[in-house]
Amino acid sequence: MVIPLPTDETIAAIATAISPGQGGIAVVRISGPKALSIGKNIVYIAGKKPAWSSHTVLYGHVMNEENNERIDEVLVLIMKAPRSFTGEDIVEIHCHGGLIAVQRVLERVLAHPEVRRAMPGEFSQRAVLNGRIDITQAEAINELIGARSKKAAQLAMASLDGGIQRRINALRETLIDQLSELEARVDFEDELPPLNGSEILNELLKVRSDLLQLVEDAKRGAIVHQGLRVALIGCPNVGKSSLLNRLSRRERAIVTNLPGTTRDLLESEIILEGVPITLIDTAGIRATNDEIEKLGIARSQEALTSADIVIMVFDLSIGWKKRDKELLNQIPPEIPFLLIGNKADLQDKSGLPKRNQNIETKQAYVSVSAKTGEGEEALASSLLKICGAYDTQGIQLALNTRQRDLASNAASTLDRLKEVSTQKLPWDFWTIDLREAIQILGEITGNEITETLLDRIFSRFCIGK
Ligand code: GDP
Repeated sequence: MVIPLPTDETIAAIATAISPGQGGIAVVRISGPKALSIGKNIVYIAGKKPAWSSHTVLYGHVMNEENNERIDEVLVLIMKAPRSFTGEDIVEIHCHGGLIAVQRVLERVLAHPEVRRAMPGEFSQRAVLNGRIDITQAEAINELIGARSKKAAQLAMASLDGGIQRRINALRETLIDQLSELEARVDFEDELPPLNGSEILNELLKVRSDLLQLVEDAKRGAIVHQGLRVALIGCPNVGKSSLLNRLSRRERAIVTNLPGTTRDLLESEIILEGVPITLIDTAGIRATNDEIEKLGIARSQEALTSADIVIMVFDLSIGWKKRDKELLNQIPPEIPFLLIGNKADLQDKSGLPKRNQNIETKQAYVSVSAKTGEGEEALASSLLKICGAYDTQGIQLALNTRQRDLASNAASTLDRLKEVSTQKLPWDFWTIDLREAIQILGEITGNEITETLLDRIFSRFCIGK
């Protein structure tokens, strides 16, 4: 969906999540030149007519004009241009939550002829076009709202504070400085002091390695935002549910002594080192005649193929068996897996090496006890390591996929300069790649805004943002 480019239209939408019976308050946001006159028109304020001054809050009622019915009791927040989120006049009507009251307030606003319903992401788009925030900050709003862990929220906040914008702009500035030196040489080589190609190349390659570092951090940051799906498999009774309970610290799975009782898929979300992890507990995958169990097994197979990683559990107290090996063979080869020996507390330490000698030793392997908690930390860190989510706490900034692809393109463009330098090509050749890298970095922050870029970014927003 394409959002119309800036107009002087006034727009309105519900800016908060709405759900029946939920939320003490909800907010209807109106932005544009008519926001104040619409607010004044639909909100009745008792007593002396107040001045609708910027950054003040008024108490009143949204009225149904026709029958004088009070639709809702509200607070009105006024923010005049340019000191508002969109940079335009904004009136926010804080009404009651739930479903009906807020929708009736919105309908009342939209009944006004000088306002239309906002498109998804349109408030944020206006904020960008009016220079209140840049593209990376607009994206950060979406990321902050979608954050599923504290670390993901911190990374989004760093971007909202302008962290990515500053970092990228600083690198872009370095490139612009070098470009102007080079361009001057293209035109006035004889009149200026000579340039040292290898020094320039070093400067530019430093920018390239900074970009590559950002790309590397972004990969780990993506895991913090998106999370991982982890399928937990193992033969019946090896302790999958107990392990899941221990990891999620919630008694969600039913723990029992009977084999094959975990018939359905149980999903639970845990946070490990800032990474949201959806653990999918599967019924033991094995041949069975029981119809219900067959269903569970089919679902397990599904869970296996949709997982980012598989944790396969076996029982250390009885050792590595043929059925474990059969199950192991069912893990699709492209999916990384972690082998867990559970019930370490029962393990007969003296006899174990002999019994377990058939374990596929090449795999990452951790021994744990779901009962005592032994090995839990090692399990968590091995899991994150396998997924490339190591040291996520150390990341301060994380580019999103769009930004990461651009940073990576810019780095490759700069990489081409090595060849240009080796071949001692004239300065014009340097300027071509340099200009391209500058343009790509400009796309990250929106220095180079195009309609396609705006559409690509804001189409992912929902109404009210
Ligand atoms: P699942 O069928 O793989 O989900 O296995 P459960 O989690 O239902 O566990 C089967 C049995 O093993 C239960 O009686 C658990 O209490 C027991 N169990 C699970 N983990 C451990 C462990 O680490 N140590 C001991 N001693 N018992 C465990």
